[in-house]
Amino acid sequence: MFLHYYNATVMISKKKVPAQTKTKAPSAKKVTQKIDKKSAPKEEKKVAAVEKEVLLMQPPRGMRDILPVDQPYWERVRKALAVACQEYGFSRIDTPVVEYANLVTKTIGEGTDVVDKELYSFVTKGGDNVALRPEFTAGIARAYIQHGMSVLPKPIRLFSTGSVYRYDRPQEGRYREFWQANFDVFGEDDPILDAQIIHLAQRVVSQLGLKHIEFRINSIGTAESRRDYEKILVRHFEFQKQKLCQDCRNRLVANPLRILDCKEDKCAQLVISAPKFMDHLDQESRDHFKRLQEYLNELEISYVINPQLVRGLDYYTRTVFEIYSTDSEGKKTALGGGGRYDRLIQSLGGEETPAIGFALGMDRLVLEMKRLNVKLYQESKPKVFLAQLGELAKKKSLRLFSELQKNGILVAESFGRGSLKSQMRVANRLGVEVALILGQKEALDETVILKDMISGTQETVTQDKLVIAVRKILKGNQVVVAKRAEVIESSDI
Ligand code: AMP
Repeated sequence: MFLHYYNATVMISKKKVPAQTKTKAPSAKKVTQKIDKKSAPKEEKKVAAVEKEVLLMQPPRGMRDILPVDQPYWERVRKALAVACQEYGFSRIDTPVVEYANLVTKTIGEGTDVVDKELYSFVTKGGDNVALRPEFTAGIARAYIQHGMSVLPKPIRLFSTGSVYRYDRPQEGRYREFWQANFDVFGEDDPILDAQIIHLAQRVVSQLGLKHIEFRINSIGTAESRRDYEKILVRHFEFQKQKLCQDCRNRLVANPLRILDCKEDKCAQLVISAPKFMDHLDQESRDHFKRLQEYLNELEISYVINPQLVRGLDYYTRTVFEIYSTDSEGKKTALGGGGRYDRLIQSLGGEETPAIGFALGMDRLVLEMKRLNVKLYQESKPKVFLAQLGELAKKKSLRLFSELQKNGILVAESFGRGSLKSQMRVANRLGVEVALILGQKEALDETVILKDMISGTQETVTQDKLVIAVRKILKGNQVVVAKRAEVIESSDI
């Protein structure tokens, strides 16, 4: 009776799993296999004590694998970033993916979407309240203070890259785990640095082949002028509160500036007649912004001044900017954004330190590159294949592989295969120029058979001469290829 019941329970559960995985877009829910606790024998009861969870074969919602086929795009982004770091003198810094939640909250600010709605925060087994980083600045600012970087010669330029996490509603180009490249400059408040960082952003995106780029800039003044402006804004919207969306009604109390960049139509309509920040900007910020524009003009960077641009985070002061890519239908994709945060370091307990930073969304860069069919670098392919036959030859070929590698010769192999025929099939498929064959006899004689796959000729050389012999064939082939090209060219004429 028991066996029948127990098995039946498991069978039902088992049946459920494939049924769920078969669905077109399976949800990320866990399927729980419950084992009946009362009727199970002792051993099974132990298992039953822990609910056995069968997980669906997919990552959590909004997260994804970046597969080998996409890596060439990412590699190109990483290379462009490395070049920019070198050109503009940025040093790399890596900070933890997890920080104390109060650091993130204090840096970004209560009342912001990132903190109120999107933060992945949790309490660890040890009772620490932590959060997955939703952006880089909080961790970088913490590291800057903790490691006493203020004593270093200014400006201090730091670059970081990695995954960031926001619990947002996933859609095309918007993920819960995504990648950012982040640049921060500490210690100078001259707007020439703001212009230079915008120039850097332009350099990276243009290196990636993205052409239709738009920079939007704005100044949101000092913290004081912002507070004054916020009061004016609250007075303006207070009368029309009922016409705002629910989020903006909350923002009126928590973060009135965010009403300016609300995407809801009814709010956007009300924003048109709202008082403009530019008219309430303090003189110093006004001059700072004017000089930024002069520098951008000097760099021939075109930009649009967007008074609605406020950015979502609390720490920004003065310059804020965003970078957009435009497609042929005029659809705009945000590629990155940033701004000044002159008060942040001080507010976290450090010295007064002006700073500016920005982040590029790497997933978005890749999506744009794909949309525009950007050409990718051709990675060097191995021109030599090493085939082996028999146990001794297999062992010896490991040493030969390493010898060729040390001499800068890329070698392909198929060590797991036993038959020479199937290994040569792989060599043909890879289109190598030289096949090296090591059988039992060659392993004992310390020789190797070299087959020139282009001319079809074959020779046997001693293993100590292998590198020279391979180089000779590869060089000869280059000459042949060049000569063939010449013949084709002259016959064209
Ligand atoms: P933000 O810090 O929100 O200004 O983000 C900087 C850049 O990161 C944006 O311009 C986007 O390119 C990218 N980004 C922001 N949120 C997401 C997301 N949820 N998924 C993918 N990329 C994002």
